[in-house]
Amino acid sequence: MTILEVKNLSLGFTCENGFHQALYDVSFSLKKGQMHALVGESGCGKTISAMSIMQLLPKNAKIISGEILYSSENICQMSQAQIQKLRGSKIALIPQDPMTSLNPLYTIGDQLLEVIKIHQGLKGEEAFKKATEALDAVQIPCAKERMKAYPHEFSGGMKQRAIIAMALACNAEILIADEPTTALDVTIQAQIMNLLAKIKNEVNTSILLITHDLALVSENADYISVMYAGKIVENAPSSEFFNNTKHPYSLALLKSLPSSKRNEKLQTIAGQPPTIQQIISGCKFHPRCDFVMEKCKFEIPQNYNVGTEHHCACFLNENIR
Ligand code: SF4
Repeated sequence: MTILEVKNLSLGFTCENGFHQALYDVSFSLKKGQMHALVGESGCGKTISAMSIMQLLPKNAKIISGEILYSSENICQMSQAQIQKLRGSKIALIPQDPMTSLNPLYTIGDQLLEVIKIHQGLKGEEAFKKATEALDAVQIPCAKERMKAYPHEFSGGMKQRAIIAMALACNAEILIADEPTTALDVTIQAQIMNLLAKIKNEVNTSILLITHDLALVSENADYISVMYAGKIVENAPSSEFFNNTKHPYSLALLKSLPSSKRNEKLQTIAGQPPTIQQIISGCKFHPRCDFVMEKCKFEIPQNYNVGTEHHCACFLNENIR
């Protein structure tokens, strides 16, 4: 069952030197109990797509067209009061740096109890029980004692768990995890990814995972959308994506993953992704593409159907089906 659908979303920013488009016809959906990974380099439009869902866009952003449907209602047309109700209780954001969401002046318990009061209407013992259960669920040991701790007494991984606990305590149906492990070391990264997978499987929460790291999503994501320069260039169920990768950018991302073989040279993608101010004709990946053809420089590739639920915006796939 589809729980969230982003349909043909185009968006831009008014800057000092004019209006610049940042998202082009972005479409993807999130199913109940599914982890959908939105993958790409910094500045490709992943985070701004997520912020559009949360309606936390900067003032100079403008949605040009498209809609974001939650329970068949367009989030872009909701009132501030409706949006406030949705945030936290239905859709929760897990940020890159948990300190941006935790108040250093209040204990973890106070902050958990506050969100439970606002979103669940619970108080006293009932709220305390819900809060400790949520801390237990995210595997924070001695949950009752930890309620009294301040954020600075938690490690980076524990802070991120506390944020996830807040979302769980509010029974959020959708978690938007924006590079949730970037600020953590590698072993803790794996623990947080396992925790998100556990929540997805046991609580049936839907997760939109935003990341630049394909390796991180290879085990847990059900569906993958690769973004480049504000556009989804390839999307497919995870196994289909990894077994039958089609887009030259996705292939380049996969090749740039570190290998377990010793002494193997790390491959990089030549050049830089374009900024939103840069105008690039044709396929926006063409200046960096190993397979570039003459038409790629002037024509924009369509999103070709290349397999079961598998789409790819590249001329190389024009005649596959
Ligand atoms: Fe490369 Fe052309 Fe495909 Fe773009 S359309 S990814 S430039 S081959």
